[in-house]
Amino acid sequence: MAPELINLERCVGGVLYPADGTARADVITSVLKTKAQMAGAQFHSDTTVTGIEVVGDAVGGVIAGGIVYPADDVVIACGIWGPSVAMLANQALPLTPVAHPYVYGPASRATSSRRPFVRWPEHHVYARDHGDRLGLGTYDHEPLEVSANQLGDKAEGPWPGELFDSAVGDAMNVLPAEHRFIPHQQLNGIFAMTADNLPLVGAVGDVRGLWAAEALWVTHAAGAARALADLITDRQPTLPYFRALDPDVSRVNPHATSPTARFTSTATSTRRPDARQVLQPGPGDRADRHSLRAQGGRPAATTGRDSDPLAVRQHPTKGGSA
Ligand SMILES: Cc1cc2nc3c(=O)[nH]c(=O)nc-3n(C[C@H](O)[C@H](O)[C@H](O)COP(=O)(O)OP(=O)(O)OC[C@H]3O[C@@H](n4cnc5c(N)ncnc54)[C@H](O)[C@@H]3O)c2cc1C
Repeated sequence: MAPELINLERCVGGVLYPADGTARADVITSVLKTKAQMAGAQFHSDTTVTGIEVVGDAVGGVIAGGIVYPADDVVIACGIWGPSVAMLANQALPLTPVAHPYVYGPASRATSSRRPFVRWPEHHVYARDHGDRLGLGTYDHEPLEVSANQLGDKAEGPWPGELFDSAVGDAMNVLPAEHRFIPHQQLNGIFAMTADNLPLVGAVGDVRGLWAAEALWVTHAAGAARALADLITDRQPTLPYFRALDPDVSRVNPHATSPTARFTSTATSTRRPDARQVLQPGPGDRADRHSLRAQGGRPAATTGRDSDPLAVRQHPTKGGSA
């Protein structure tokens, strides 16, 4: 299926997902944007949100370009910049930007039919056919956390040299010898990582009307967006186990938010992006916490929602109760 990527002499076996595909985020979002505009939505491009108004315990609006936009609901969907934006409402998001190496080969190949992407989970390496060239990425390196004040206005950083050079060099060995390449373009892409490898989707903190759609990959985007829309409009999301995505900072053990422990968990996550970390409290822990919240901090009798492992935390409707 992908002779340029798979070394048949070393290949013992593999799994093909024939229904897999490639999502063109630019095309999809452009179509969705047009539909939203036809339904009355307005978009303000290149406008930085500099403030989130909180009135009492609820969101009041956002400030962007010096203008206050009143809003009942605000969704933070700002990628690696999400924690800084959440801080505008004094809320924390347990998300860490990390650096990730990806390299492109020379653009010299025929652009005819593309081969499937290939992943080598045991090496934490993946490769892609971009049509005119190959690309290769690896997670098998010491984790490189990027602090908020190092972030520029693009989700990219400077190539860190030896750390990524040697990781890419090692990763290249998974390819058949005749298709290994000298990188013609190096990308240090920065993406959002969480301690348990799951996105942050749902209500943020105790500010009613404040939501997060963070640490999402393109792969998750459509399902997460639908589930969040359900939540905002008071429908129970049909996505199974949606509650596991709750952005609550305490969904990971408290130690996981300390700088040292966060680094350790990031190390594990970045090396094994498909593995699930055992950092989450058990369902009982979460139910207890949510019960406490709903009861204004008092221990509560178990409610239907709390006893349901799929139940999700919803902001009470404005002026209503939990
Ligand atoms: C090399 C590499 C390979 C990857 N491969 C895959 C893959 O195979 N599959 C996959 O699913 N994902 C992959 N990803 C991850 C994926 O690209 C990201 O998870 C995804 O693009 C994040 O989308 P986002 O919309 O959350 O964030 P972004 O696309 O970063 O969008 C956030 C937006 O918020 C804006 N913003 C920030 N702050 C403010 C503010 N104050 N006011 C207004 N706007 C603001 C930013 O300008 C930006 O436009 C890869 C990433 C890298 C780097």
